[in-house]
Amino acid sequence: MRKKIIAGNWKMNLNYAEALSLVDTIVDQMEDDGLAEVVLAPPFIYLRDIVSRVQGSTRLSIAAQNCSQFKNGAHTGEVSSSMLSSVGVECVIVGHSERRAEQNESNEILKLKIDRILEQFLIPVFCCGETAEERKNGSHSEIINRQLEQSLFHLNEAQLLSCVIAYEPVWAIGTGKNASIDQIQEMHSLIRKQINHHYKNNIGENISIIYGGSVSVSNAEEIFSAPDVDGALIGGASLKAADFTLILKMMEKMLSSRMV
Ligand code: PEP
Repeated sequence: MRKKIIAGNWKMNLNYAEALSLVDTIVDQMEDDGLAEVVLAPPFIYLRDIVSRVQGSTRLSIAAQNCSQFKNGAHTGEVSSSMLSSVGVECVIVGHSERRAEQNESNEILKLKIDRILEQFLIPVFCCGETAEERKNGSHSEIINRQLEQSLFHLNEAQLLSCVIAYEPVWAIGTGKNASIDQIQEMHSLIRKQINHHYKNNIGENISIIYGGSVSVSNAEEIFSAPDVDGALIGGASLKAADFTLILKMMEKMLSSRMV
């Protein structure tokens, strides 16, 4: 079975005390034997302390929201994948639409970041998604294909298998307007088909593809019912421990019902 993942992207929110309190509350509210994996992506400056806070939790890992495309050197303000690895970070979000838009991160730059992340045996959570304009003019599938081809499809089979893909339509992020269940299922299935087209052994069936874009307690259950959805990347709702853990419980309930 593919890994099921509930990930929280805290973006540039919370002060230090708030961040520690949020992680402590989430850990307290999580059951020890849950079936889904949990990933939290706090701002860089809190990573080391939050990693030590969750040590001992077998299914909770900490992600960075970004890393440099360079290994090291004269890149003021950047953080390398080896630095992240050295403080116990296990995953890195790469290609979030906010970074693509605000920092001009191209598919080619993201390809380099993926390589840096994998060199350190970290897990990339690769975000792809179309803008509202691209959805409107019908080029959304083409855009996703290009994002996958230009940033991911240089990887070998084993490397690709260690990635998580997040389908995040840009128009659904932070807008309160999630994609419909049909749109989500269609795009997740398309991503799997594209992977299977480029690689042997139908490996697309073994890669976790999570959905992001206004996931909340009111729509998570329906989104998780789509067969190609393996979890969620959550922004706004991940800042409230009660909402985040309720969404996690919805995923776990769905998983237990599939097992009986
Ligand atoms: C995100 O930041 O990746 C995201 C999906 O945000 P939100 O859940 O707030 O739409």
